[in-house]
Amino acid sequence: MPLTPEQQAEIDELRAGARPTLRAVSEGMEKHLYLPHQVLDHGFVRVIDYMGDDAAITQAARVSYGRGTKTVNTDEGLIRYLMRHWHSTPFEMCEVKFHVKLPVFVARQWIRHRTANVNEYSARYSILDREFYIPAPEHLSAQSATNRQGRGALLEGAEAARVLDILREDAMRSYDHYESMLSDDGQKGLARELARMNLPANIYTQWYWKVDLHNLFHFLRLRADAHAQYEIRAYAETMCRIVADWVPFAYSAFEDYRLGGMQLSAKGIAVLKRRLAGETVTEETSGMSKGEWREFESAWEA
Ligand SMILES: Cc1cc2nc3c(=O)[nH]c(=O)nc-3n(C[C@H](O)[C@H](O)[C@H](O)COP(=O)(O)OP(=O)(O)OC[C@H]3O[C@@H](n4cnc5c(N)ncnc54)[C@H](O)[C@@H]3O)c2cc1C
Repeated sequence: MPLTPEQQAEIDELRAGARPTLRAVSEGMEKHLYLPHQVLDHGFVRVIDYMGDDAAITQAARVSYGRGTKTVNTDEGLIRYLMRHWHSTPFEMCEVKFHVKLPVFVARQWIRHRTANVNEYSARYSILDREFYIPAPEHLSAQSATNRQGRGALLEGAEAARVLDILREDAMRSYDHYESMLSDDGQKGLARELARMNLPANIYTQWYWKVDLHNLFHFLRLRADAHAQYEIRAYAETMCRIVADWVPFAYSAFEDYRLGGMQLSAKGIAVLKRRLAGETVTEETSGMSKGEWREFESAWEA
């Protein structure tokens, strides 16, 4: 992810120019402002701007004239109450704007989250960099035998080496062709908007992505989850750490109720009640489908 000296100088300049403000400031977020956090081999996430803090959530919930803070304890309790009861709008009062550099195939999953504002680097206007995601050997896995959307055992030895060679060679050859089509040396040179057609989905793109905290939590719940593809999960996990510093009470409630918690169906509650009463309940007597039963049982595994 090396930044150019010019990019680094721009970030240094922004971080050196602190100004007094009357706005709410999150000390935890200030330490992240503008700084890139590396993700994958060439990607990053960095915070460009943000609005609000934990107090902004309670302030909105109380429709308060001041900062809305009663005591730290009641603020934390109120935020947990709001999260527990799915009161989403107070969380929408906080916003964050990220600058993300990510492979195109990750961007295709990410862009499905429609409740954000996006502006992407234009490959019609600019020439893309020669930067491609090549998985680290510990992430080069075979197709899962049990989950059609997942990975299984690691590729090893000659097979792993051959796959990495193919990925690198295809990337370099495509980029060489991209450059040669763009070139106006002794030819007209193909338009940028057309020359990009042959580039593979592991090339990196960049965007600014602005979202409110409620919809960010929705994104993180889906994409920091173990079922999400590793490559987008790596971004979501980095963003989780940033959000934990930004709004510690809200993040801890999110971690407790959403990331770490689970929703029980009426059938699940009935099974639990029967078990607490001493009955042995099996898949056959639970009234649940095979998949539901598997997920229900896996929640109680040590
Ligand atoms: C593990 C995983 C596997 C997936 N597999 C596939 C797949 O195989 N194929 C595929 O196509 N997608 C797949 N997806 C994408 C998934 O179906 C969603 O499109 C994506 O997660 C965005 O979720 P969202 O629509 O809830 O988010 P957002 O777009 O941010 O929307 C948030 C919420 O706002 C509301 N909302 C937003 N826009 C509308 C609207 N126009 N109408 C009504 N309500 C709206 C909905 O309540 C929605 O839940 C997968 C996602 C995950 C996490």
